[in-house]
Amino acid sequence: MKKYRKKQQRLAIGLLVSALVLVMSLIGIFAVKMVEKSQKNGSGKSTESTSSRTVSTDSGQKDSSVVSKVTSASSSEAVSSAVSIPTTSTTSSAPAEPTTAPVEPTTAPAEPTTAPAEPTNTPAVATKIVCIDPGHELTQITDLEPIAPGSSEMKQGVTSGTEGATSGKTEYQVNLEVSQLLRDILKERGYEVVMTRETNDVTLSNVQRAQLATAANADIFVRIHCNGLENTEINGVLCYGPTEGNPYLTREAIDGSRRLCQLLKDNQCAVTGQKALDNLYEDNMTGINWATMPVAIVEMGFMTNPQEDLYMASPEGQQAIATGLANGIDAYFAVG
Ligand SMILES: [Zn+2]
Repeated sequence: MKKYRKKQQRLAIGLLVSALVLVMSLIGIFAVKMVEKSQKNGSGKSTESTSSRTVSTDSGQKDSSVVSKVTSASSSEAVSSAVSIPTTSTTSSAPAEPTTAPVEPTTAPAEPTTAPAEPTNTPAVATKIVCIDPGHELTQITDLEPIAPGSSEMKQGVTSGTEGATSGKTEYQVNLEVSQLLRDILKERGYEVVMTRETNDVTLSNVQRAQLATAANADIFVRIHCNGLENTEINGVLCYGPTEGNPYLTREAIDGSRRLCQLLKDNQCAVTGQKALDNLYEDNMTGINWATMPVAIVEMGFMTNPQEDLYMASPEGQQAIATGLANGIDAYFAVG
């Protein structure tokens, strides 16, 4: 009985062992096939090497020659397939490409931000253009030029102007200072202002100054000067303009000029309290005859009169004169 039992036990153990070996070899084959699958999917070398190791250790037990043959064959297949699989090359070279591409579209979206600003500065009424001509300049121009288009009468290009006997200032300097104040006031009031000069060191004849006003398409041409006489007692404000029958200007330009002369003088005197003198209308002034729009020469006062000279040289006097002239220009356009 004992022998038989022992035989039975051995048989059972043998069957168990062989069953175990079978199961294990099946597991081994399954594992190898899984490795192959994972390699074909390109899932890396690390999983491949670890799985083949577990297969060989599992199968390295008692009389597992069949198992080891299977595993070695399948593992070599796995290795060869792993070598021949070029999936790593496609995956490793592929990611390099798109790095340069996404840089491009970053510059495009900046453009449309400047567009919507435009329609805000379109005024209902056209802006008036005032050309201011500060009289004279650092050096006089002795070359002669015709006093009017087509005229044979000639005059010096630009004279040297007068001088402040008390202030010591030159006329061209005072003219420029008041002109620049007038420019600033007019710009503040919404006018477009064109200056024939912004410095004293220029070479501009009276014809050229009038041509600048025409080129600027100016609505009016305001010329700023100071007066001078031997008699130091005389003081006051006056303007030069064309006569009623000026042969060079249009009817509109003549009428506008005479109205402008009156308004500039009256408004300057209203602010400064200076004496208003009679305007002078003549047709021998180059800068008037060459104009193509209403034009006036403002004689702001006499530099030969000590009080008026100091007043025109002072910042307070200049500011008052410029304000009065700006009021005159406002009045001119308010009616016209
Ligand atoms: Zn002058």
